[in-house]
Amino acid sequence: MSDSPLPPLREVIARHGLSASKALGQNFLFDAQLLDRIAAIPGDLTDRAVLEIGPGPGGLTRALLRAGARVTAIEMDRRCLPALAELEAAFPGRLQVVEGDALRIDHAALVGEPFAVVANLPYNVGTALFTRWLSGEQWPPRWTSLTLMFQQEVAQRVVAPAGSNAYGRLAVLAQWRSTARLALKVHRSAFTPPPKVMSAIVHVEPAAMPSGVSARVLERLTEAAFGQRRKMLRQSVKALPGALDALASLGIDPQRRAETLSVEEFVAIARALSSGRP
Ligand code: SAM
Repeated sequence: MSDSPLPPLREVIARHGLSASKALGQNFLFDAQLLDRIAAIPGDLTDRAVLEIGPGPGGLTRALLRAGARVTAIEMDRRCLPALAELEAAFPGRLQVVEGDALRIDHAALVGEPFAVVANLPYNVGTALFTRWLSGEQWPPRWTSLTLMFQQEVAQRVVAPAGSNAYGRLAVLAQWRSTARLALKVHRSAFTPPPKVMSAIVHVEPAAMPSGVSARVLERLTEAAFGQRRKMLRQSVKALPGALDALASLGIDPQRRAETLSVEEFVAIARALSSGRP
């Protein structure tokens, strides 16, 4: 599918006066080839529902539509809406744009069917949404995959293996019932204006949820354990009722620190705590 009748993005931005707003974390992508590569990460999107957060002037949105997706897009900056309305007209029935803050919208209710998420978001909004998508007891979730642009340092924390410096709460949350991979590194010069640091795209797909584990319990456990990551477990998790007994019954040395525990070990402790019988 081609978007040749559409004017070039830079022209759209100039015509609608869309100077990038720092407050909204706006760094735009214009390179159609790069955008097509990003839209290909979730796999074949033909006739699939995609939720895009932060379409801005619509570069990534165009690529998703070219890939055959049906897109629902949430954008907070109303200056972008006229440009996005042109895109809605060029792809009739395939794009729905919603004005609002993605942090305050119920995504499942908005899309109404399982959806792939694709987004290039400011750092703080991206991580807040990411942890929200990864939490909760309902599994599999309504999203079928998450394809998200992060600062490279954050992307590395998502995919970090146990024992590495980047390993922490984000890695355990992203890996205990999902697969997470670093799909593409994106040079800062690809953005207008270029951000200070390099970026990378992480792709996450839900996997089977380990049995007998409450997500809330695992979230509390990782919060406690990594909240004091330099401390030994016997200190960092002692306020969690049953946690020290769980370590003992699982044969996990309480003198270890959180970053040395594998994702499976966190799951085993959370399972013991979830059953209330460590
Ligand atoms: N997707 C475009 C691209 O790749 O060129 C724009 C990316 S820009 C980094 C981030 C976009 O997210 C901006 O258009 C900004 O207005 C929007 N945004 C920021 N916070 C948001 C929020 N809480 N909800 C919805 N959109 C948001």
